[in-house]
Amino acid sequence: MPLSQLTYCSRVQNLGPEDVQAILDVSRKGNQAADVTGMLLYDRRGFLQCLEGEREQVTATFARIVADPRHDQVALIAVHDIENRDFPDWTMGYVVTKLPQVAAVLADFGLGETFQPQQMSANAAVSLMKRMRDLNRTV
Ligand code: FAD
Repeated sequence: MPLSQLTYCSRVQNLGPEDVQAILDVSRKGNQAADVTGMLLYDRRGFLQCLEGEREQVTATFARIVADPRHDQVALIAVHDIENRDFPDWTMGYVVTKLPQVAAVLADFGLGETFQPQQMSANAAVSLMKRMRDLNRTV
């Protein structure tokens, strides 16, 4: 079974830190069981998330996420086969945009003032998530 990597973004209305923590907790549990790995970027205006794993597991996980009422306007940015995982160490890596180091990387990708990953190319979105991964190793 080929490995797939899927990247999407969504918008949020009113989520508190405890809501985001609850999402992370359930994500890490579900992903561990499904051998799905990835990275979640949260901004008060939305999410950008990368999921990777066996194709069927990524599809099932994404289907649950799309139906989740805690966010909306889910937009698929990229989906492709991968030889190796980009986020093998994380059942769900997490970064929050208000950290200064994260804000600087977002500015590099044109997301500084307005968090609008909907406008990004697939390549740019995946590159951004990899930069976040590398940042996550140092903060
Ligand atoms: P159940 O726990 O049985 O819940 C039933 C329904 O209620 C589902 O639609 C669920 O989404 C919704 N729900 C659950 N809790 C709440 C709540 N507090 N408020 C409102 N609605 C709620 N899950 C993963 O497994 N892996 C991921 O990587 C992952 N990433 C996510 C990223 C984002 C941005 C969001 C919003 C959710 C993510 N989730 C992820 C959670 C996912 O959407 C499901 O809630 C979770 O997988 C449990 O699915 P379930 O069908 O067992 O739902």
